[in-house]
Amino acid sequence: MSRTLFVTTALPYANGSFHIGHIMEYIQADIWVRSMRMSGHTVHFVGADDAHGAPIMLKAESEGISPQALVARYAAERPQYLNGFHIAFDHWHSTDSSENVELSQKIYLRLKEAGFIYSKTIEQFYDPVKGMFLPDRYIKGECPHCHAKDQYGDACEACSTVYSPTELIEPYSTLTRATPVLRSSEHFFFRLSDPRCVEFLREWVAGSNPQGDKRLQPEVLAKTREWLGSGEDAEANLADWDISRDEPYFGIPIPDAPGKYFYVWLDAPVGYLASLKAYCDKTGLDFYDLIDPKSDTEQIHFIGKDIVYFHALFWPAMLHFAGLKTPDALNVHGFITVSGEKMSKSRGTGISPLRYLDIGMNPEWMRYYITAKLNAHVEDLDFNPDDFVARVNSDLVGKYVNIASRAANFITKLFDGKLAYVGDTQAMQEELAAVAEQVANDFEHREYGRAIRRIMAHADVINQAFDAAQPWVLAKGIQTADDTTRAQLQDICSRALAGFKALSVMLTPVLPMLSRRVAQELFGETRDFQWSDAAVLPTQVTPFKHLMQRVDPKQLDALFEPPAAPEITPGGEPIADTIDIKDFAKIDLRIARIVAAEAVDGSDKLLRLTLDVGEGRHRQVFSGIKASYQPSDLVDKLTVVVANLAPRKMRFGVSEGMVLAASHADDSVDPGIYVLHPWPGAQPGMRIS
Ligand SMILES: [Zn+2]
Repeated sequence: MSRTLFVTTALPYANGSFHIGHIMEYIQADIWVRSMRMSGHTVHFVGADDAHGAPIMLKAESEGISPQALVARYAAERPQYLNGFHIAFDHWHSTDSSENVELSQKIYLRLKEAGFIYSKTIEQFYDPVKGMFLPDRYIKGECPHCHAKDQYGDACEACSTVYSPTELIEPYSTLTRATPVLRSSEHFFFRLSDPRCVEFLREWVAGSNPQGDKRLQPEVLAKTREWLGSGEDAEANLADWDISRDEPYFGIPIPDAPGKYFYVWLDAPVGYLASLKAYCDKTGLDFYDLIDPKSDTEQIHFIGKDIVYFHALFWPAMLHFAGLKTPDALNVHGFITVSGEKMSKSRGTGISPLRYLDIGMNPEWMRYYITAKLNAHVEDLDFNPDDFVARVNSDLVGKYVNIASRAANFITKLFDGKLAYVGDTQAMQEELAAVAEQVANDFEHREYGRAIRRIMAHADVINQAFDAAQPWVLAKGIQTADDTTRAQLQDICSRALAGFKALSVMLTPVLPMLSRRVAQELFGETRDFQWSDAAVLPTQVTPFKHLMQRVDPKQLDALFEPPAAPEITPGGEPIADTIDIKDFAKIDLRIARIVAAEAVDGSDKLLRLTLDVGEGRHRQVFSGIKASYQPSDLVDKLTVVVANLAPRKMRFGVSEGMVLAASHADDSVDPGIYVLHPWPGAQPGMRIS
């Protein structure tokens, strides 16, 4: 029976480029989509950028551009990643779109009407300098538990205690360093604790899709049951959800609530629907038919393990009580890690997908490797360079691609490209059909590693049969051989190529470009492979063309090589000779306040600084920082000065000390000069030791 599937991947936050974790998720979903289409199902596969929220607003502000411009910049670079790795979304959208405004507001109003929304006044930290309420991550202070300094507003990284920002000792805003003040504001809440929600979610998490497969993986179901609790006390486990933020905020306005916006996590998942709606408008599909609760369209979300709470509780509850269709499956994956000491510190923290493509590595190698290591559980996947080389070179090229090169040459040279089989082929066809059916079933249930193991095991079977028949022995005397011997050689090669074709069908979701070349260039097909092609025997083959290179291990060295200057000489110059503490103590470093700063007539490098070093008098210091600072930016700032440096007579006057600043030894790497600036609390005259 043909199914209609609405498939999404998690929406990437639009304040950065894709990393390898995004690519892994998209490859997982893309393979699933391709496999389902090969079975004849209809799939609508959409994605979108998650565009709203304080981090994007503040990042755009720091760059002096609008949030829309920031989002547009990242949106513009998405296609080179997606096309580069053959990830074929039907549509890519943005949560900052008219569709998302319409749908988010509609869902909110329906939830409000159904009694799931209420408001109350809460007290929250407010940055009086910036003029905005501060998200927890923008507040730091001393941990109330272990007294570690500079801990975030929600949890201590030193002792792992979770607290609220109001418990921090000496809190400050990371945006302005100002001391935040408590201010009250009306916030809107989604009543997740409502007994109707709890009852609905308990049923939903345990449910199945129309095929009878569980909606949630066992480990995800177990987690949601912890959250949902059991019996009467369940409500206590679920906190209501604060869904509003005060202006200034980059987001969607809440209807009838001036100055209030939806918290980004409310409108982000609605972005799945917004993208589908835009796609429907473009193609003439009926959007509301697809998301109707009675629709037989299945809604499937591929997500990472870090966002299960939003997708397994808020999202289905929001949809259900807004009268919309709820998801049929959450396909949750773990994270991707990169193994070995070589990667982590000295060679960077991950694999840059763009660098992978830029240095000419084949995207289908990555698709194959990730597929071989994925399963249906929420497990992390480790990228290991040696394993990558082994799997691509030994398995993919050595076992699979080589079958074609070995068998096709005999057929094209000796039999004019014609395939012919001796005797019964029924058993072989049944076997190929059976393996392909198992592999298709593995893909449907996201047991990708198992699918690859099955495919490679069958490649072994084909290679062994070919080797055992020793066709090269038959080929030696073929010019004078009888018809039986010729037919035998033709049969051996034809069976190997029939096997190769079936393996290509099975690998089509993983290697879509290679599969297309096999179908069209090698076997003369006019369309891409379907699952049903696995057992159809090919009748002709064209001369073998090279299908896939092996990985050169040097490419992996290049992949992990830092693209910037090597780090052997930090900052562009080697570390100076060792000194002892007595040598260091000779240098008297003091905190200084810059009282005044001005350009120096006749110098394009120097600024004249007037410093307060806490001595009851002011000092004059000349500093070569004119290229990097406006004098007005420096006034009233604290910095560090070498206070016991012998006064130096310069062309413009006497310099009584030296202000500390950092720079790269090589101007072409970084021409900037960075004046040292102490953390708040330091006072002029304090000694640095
Ligand atoms: Zn602590």
